[in-house]
Amino acid sequence: TLFERAFTNKRFGTHLNVEIGERLTHADLTAHHHAVIYAVGASSSRPLDIPGEHLPGNHAAAQFVGWYNGHPDHSGAEFDLSGERAVIVGNGNVALDVARVLLMSPDQLGQTDIAQHALDALAHSNIREVVIIARRGPRAAAFSVGEFLALGHLDGVDVLIEGCDPAVHLAADPGDDVETAAKLDLARRYAERAPTPGNKRVVFHFLSTPTEVLGDDRVEGLRVTGTDDGAVTDLATTLLLRSIGYRGTRQPGLEFDEATGVVPNEHGRVLGADGQPVPGVYVTGWIKRGPRGVIGTNRICAEETVAKLFEDFDAGALTRAVGSRDALCDLLAERELTPVDWTGWRGIDSAERERGAGSARPRVKFVAIDEMLSAAEK
Ligand code: NAP
Repeated sequence: TLFERAFTNKRFGTHLNVEIGERLTHADLTAHHHAVIYAVGASSSRPLDIPGEHLPGNHAAAQFVGWYNGHPDHSGAEFDLSGERAVIVGNGNVALDVARVLLMSPDQLGQTDIAQHALDALAHSNIREVVIIARRGPRAAAFSVGEFLALGHLDGVDVLIEGCDPAVHLAADPGDDVETAAKLDLARRYAERAPTPGNKRVVFHFLSTPTEVLGDDRVEGLRVTGTDDGAVTDLATTLLLRSIGYRGTRQPGLEFDEATGVVPNEHGRVLGADGQPVPGVYVTGWIKRGPRGVIGTNRICAEETVAKLFEDFDAGALTRAVGSRDALCDLLAERELTPVDWTGWRGIDSAERERGAGSARPRVKFVAIDEMLSAAEK
């Protein structure tokens, strides 16, 4: 793999399956390292803050993504796939990923590394239409052009554009940047295409603001209001997924900005309560700058953080006396933690691939931590 060279370097140590907070604290980390970088991402979901949001059948898209990716925290989640329509609020790349998974055929899904429980559940799904609710127009759509294009290549799926006037909202404007111009061009082509009878569909419902989740005991629909004209539309559905962005969570031992959901920092250097950099503590990725950007953005973000760490090293700011690598290993054992090293990770990886070989799948993922630990020990 891409990481093999770094991870097999003798100067590199890996302690996976260790959660920072209770049995091992931030103070333990800084007591054993000259520098600590948090790259913990943003794993919680923002609420919609509309009536009816508490009803069962309304889920965060992040939970659905965790479920189909086999994340141990979400593998027991259940989604009602018995209706013909699912509604997704928000039109970022996560919404498009979710729409794709909901509409792909079991054969296509089987060629991916989707979790087996999700593959089994989706094989019996009745969903034929996914409606994506966007509160603004196509020009302001949050998805990337590549993901929008990929939707149009799904076998047996039509892409429909609704809720906006093509002559006004899909018209080219010389002031548009390249990405926006490409998105609008694609949207125009989708809008002109006649739907194929019998196909499944993904419907982009632009300029629609969600105002109420409908239902008595569980989700029965979503009420949306026209952003420009105030027209009210009720969309019947039993599966509502909100895909309106992620949010970082407070890290024990670090300051946290509740308004933005990030750890306060200056170019990756973590700031303390006094607004001054905390020596030797850094952040990178979504916990540093919020849940935006694709993988390449995170790479640039990490380079900036590491450059600051090197600057601090060169300035002699990372010279505290700290515990040795062996002392850290002793501490992990003392706290009864079960760290997995790189050899263990390889063990899990090859066991998953072997499980997949039997059923012609790239891999069958483990979704329970104890199963992963037994594979790591082999
Ligand atoms: P996102 O790109 O920030 O999109 C969030 C969407 O939710 C926007 O359409 C936003 O509309 C809408 N929204 C926010 N609050 C809302 C509200 N109260 N009511 C209705 N709609 C609301 O978030 P994301 O899709 O979770 O993606 C997160 C990041 O991961 C993005 O940078 C994305 O590109 C990246 N990502 C990339 C890939 C990939 O490259 N394949 C895959 C997954 C994720 P407004 O624009 O009107 O606010």
